[in-house]
Amino acid sequence: MSLKLGDVVRARVSGNELTVKKKLGEGTQGVAYLVEAPDGQEVVKWYFRTQATADQREAIERLVNRGKPRGGGGERFVWPKDIVTSSGDTATFGYLMPVIDTSRFVELNAIQAKRHPQPNIPELCRISYNIADSFSDLHLSGYCYRDISLGNLLFDPRTGEVLICDNDNVGIDRQSESAILGTPEFMAPEVIRGEETPSTITDQHSLAVLLFNLWMWHHPFHGIKEYQIRSWDIPAKTKIYGTEPVFIFDPEDASNRLPDEPGYITALKRWKICPPSLKKAFTTSFTRGLREPGSRVTEGNWKAIFSSLHDNRLKCGGCGAINLWSEGIHMMQCWNCDEGIAIPMRIVINNGMTRSALLVDEGRNVFVRHVRPTEEQRSKEPIGEIVRNPNDPSMLGLRNLTELPWIVSFGDDVQKEVPPGRSAPLNRSMQLNLGSGASASIEH
Ligand SMILES: [Zn+2]
Repeated sequence: MSLKLGDVVRARVSGNELTVKKKLGEGTQGVAYLVEAPDGQEVVKWYFRTQATADQREAIERLVNRGKPRGGGGERFVWPKDIVTSSGDTATFGYLMPVIDTSRFVELNAIQAKRHPQPNIPELCRISYNIADSFSDLHLSGYCYRDISLGNLLFDPRTGEVLICDNDNVGIDRQSESAILGTPEFMAPEVIRGEETPSTITDQHSLAVLLFNLWMWHHPFHGIKEYQIRSWDIPAKTKIYGTEPVFIFDPEDASNRLPDEPGYITALKRWKICPPSLKKAFTTSFTRGLREPGSRVTEGNWKAIFSSLHDNRLKCGGCGAINLWSEGIHMMQCWNCDEGIAIPMRIVINNGMTRSALLVDEGRNVFVRHVRPTEEQRSKEPIGEIVRNPNDPSMLGLRNLTELPWIVSFGDDVQKEVPPGRSAPLNRSMQLNLGSGASASIEH
């Protein structure tokens, strides 16, 4: 039974009485209501009786007891806070969660329908980073999400903040049973084919589809094969997503290219201006990653890609639009006005394991993550800042923001110390030892 306005339900752990104020929406599993709790308004998701199984209740209890994923990424999950029951209807139950500010947080389809402005490119990088960071923290906490889809993602297009809702299908990776397998468009091919159940590895496929949708506004397998299907039924979806998935931009398999039709133009336009590092990750996800789940792009890979793109944004001198530089771009044309954009020289940081490049521009920072990508907690700490030489404003230098000296040389055997607070001049012959086995040089 659904609840009526004015009904009183009870939260199990807190014992609080909650008065139903308003119906907010209805999904496939239940109805969401705004309720008045002693310390303000909250939301109750109330299950349909058919969905209110003992397994579902046990799953929600486990989420309430274990709590949301740890870390900053965990804070973005709109996590179940308590089980809710009604003395008038013991055949079902619900759970309590915080209210979402829907004036700020929107779904992608609200943006595609032009009800909200599009996020700018730096914010799109931030949204994407935050999504990957959240699923990284979820997986590190031993959970798998199992139903990653656009319908569960809300973001603030102006700030890039993200919320992930509908967490009632989250489970313990490779332990708990799942009532649902996911949303077909986002499900990994092996789950569609019935060979595997949802796990962190299949979440990685869903995450790649989600990110592709965010950037391309299109599904990675919706090409000529989907276009030619007359009846969009279960066998059709099984074919497109499960038994014959082919990436629309697969460099080797051209069997599922975009048809020359108006509904497919946006994807082509957006792909053309997609930075190479991102194209490469999508291509890996939807070619090798389909056949070899172990080689899927990880949450950490996505985080590195989006933070690097965010670092390396460039403003077009002609129209002011923000463009994204990534390694592999040697000539740059503004995506908005086609004008050529000069690419500044780059600081290339090598730590023996990873290599990252940062455009040289006054005010940009080198961060801990450039030097030691594994130091998650301190990754956003700046260790260096690009500054202008006060005595020669045509010269830029990298100021040492650490507490230890760096060692610099300029193409000869002469080594000089760069003490904390001082700067190393950034010129083509510079070789900078940043400590911890990391070095920096200039690429032009
Ligand atoms: Zn431009």
